[in-house]
Amino acid sequence: MNEAPAPSPSPTTSTAPPDLAVPEPATTSAPVAEEAIPEAVPVPASEPATTEEVPTESVSDPESDPAATPDEITSFVPDLTWNPLEDPDSNARYGEHFAEPVTPLKASSSLGVDDSEGNAALAPRTGDFKVTLVTVQLSGKTVADTDAINMTAARNSITSANKYWNSASAGRLTFAKVNEYRHKSAAKITDSYGTIMATVTKELNWQYRAYESLVIFVPHADLNYNGSWGILGGGFTDSATSGRVIMPYPSALTNNVITHEFGHVLGLHHANSLACSNARADVPRASYGWADSSCWSSEYGDTSDLMGYAQVSSPQINAFLWEYGGFGRGNEIRNLGTPSTTARTTLKAWAGTEAGRATKFTDPVSKDVYYLELRLPVGNDTATAAGGNRGVKITKMDVLGWSGNASVVLTPNSLRSGWGNTSLTWQQGQTFKTHGGTTIKIDSIGTSSAAVTITPPGGGVPAVVPVVVLWFRWWFRWCWTSR
Ligand SMILES: [Zn+2]
Repeated sequence: MNEAPAPSPSPTTSTAPPDLAVPEPATTSAPVAEEAIPEAVPVPASEPATTEEVPTESVSDPESDPAATPDEITSFVPDLTWNPLEDPDSNARYGEHFAEPVTPLKASSSLGVDDSEGNAALAPRTGDFKVTLVTVQLSGKTVADTDAINMTAARNSITSANKYWNSASAGRLTFAKVNEYRHKSAAKITDSYGTIMATVTKELNWQYRAYESLVIFVPHADLNYNGSWGILGGGFTDSATSGRVIMPYPSALTNNVITHEFGHVLGLHHANSLACSNARADVPRASYGWADSSCWSSEYGDTSDLMGYAQVSSPQINAFLWEYGGFGRGNEIRNLGTPSTTARTTLKAWAGTEAGRATKFTDPVSKDVYYLELRLPVGNDTATAAGGNRGVKITKMDVLGWSGNASVVLTPNSLRSGWGNTSLTWQQGQTFKTHGGTTIKIDSIGTSSAAVTITPPGGGVPAVVPVVVLWFRWWFRWCWTSR
């Protein structure tokens, strides 16, 4: 792509399609959208990408008003305070496709020396992403429609995402290099968002390359999937360091949505919650899915995580995803290994900055790895760590996603799930028990820390104790019989 060091933001003055063709082949794996997995859409369809039509010519849009002149706005333009979640008619949600990379995301190296039992799958990444920000005049939309895309808000959303991920990566990643273009596309707003993305990607001849991301804004309040509207934005993972994002008109959720979608660009899947109709708090993995058919992963159900449901703020990603993505300095999560005796650990605010502020351990029976973190209203969690979402959050690897890139939060009440669940954390006095039998007791939660006791199955009584007991019994019997 264009190597010109254009300052960000650069003004957009031309309506000519940019020449984004790159002469050399992409250097990273170039997974194709044919493997796209539709999700987070209420329609049952799995849309084989082969059905995605790429218009070969610009045709008139039957949905558009043929009388619309270039200076006419043809559809609702929200203001920046519009929160689609509070609009009862909006059916607001993320809409996303993931192209599972052909090259597995797994990397051998991981952060720190204590990750031998962990799930770190991506090595720490360092790079300055080149973001190509394109405002797209869709077929049937007017110049005025396209001009109504609030570019200040679009730029601010990328600035916001840059701040989030730069902090999460301890300064190693940036999304600050932004080149802006305007593009006139043959795609229509009535096309499914995946089709729009595919069309524009092809028209721009955009290639998947490491540390590059394509972000397009289209002139409409929302997007649709097979005619189901309300989609707030779509993300496409192309590799661990490459991906694309499609956005409608900016709204109150845009900063969150762009930051979430960049999480996909960085290879993360979703933060989900365990839902069980039999109320169990934890469940083993089976070869496919969970071992108990009463349980399922409620996608996006970790409502106090950036990779969960869309919301106005952008909460901290959980410790599991943090480690999976190779974020931070590598010393944020204390590893207790596989406890054979009772262990006590202190948690500090996960959205803070202290070393060792979270804890992980491996269950001695199931070998599942559990992550414990304290959600307090600081930093990214200021707005969300309240009520039942203020406390100790327990997560582990989910069965969704691929390469273990999704998390599942284990909550005190798995009968609850979905957007309305605001009781994700464990409170002082509560005890969580893993399916392997390890108990996690929340001893105390204060304003800056929590104390937790982890007891493996058998009560944490060392194996030597029964031997001693047996010895005393033998000794008493010997004393008795030899009297
Ligand atoms: Zn998503």
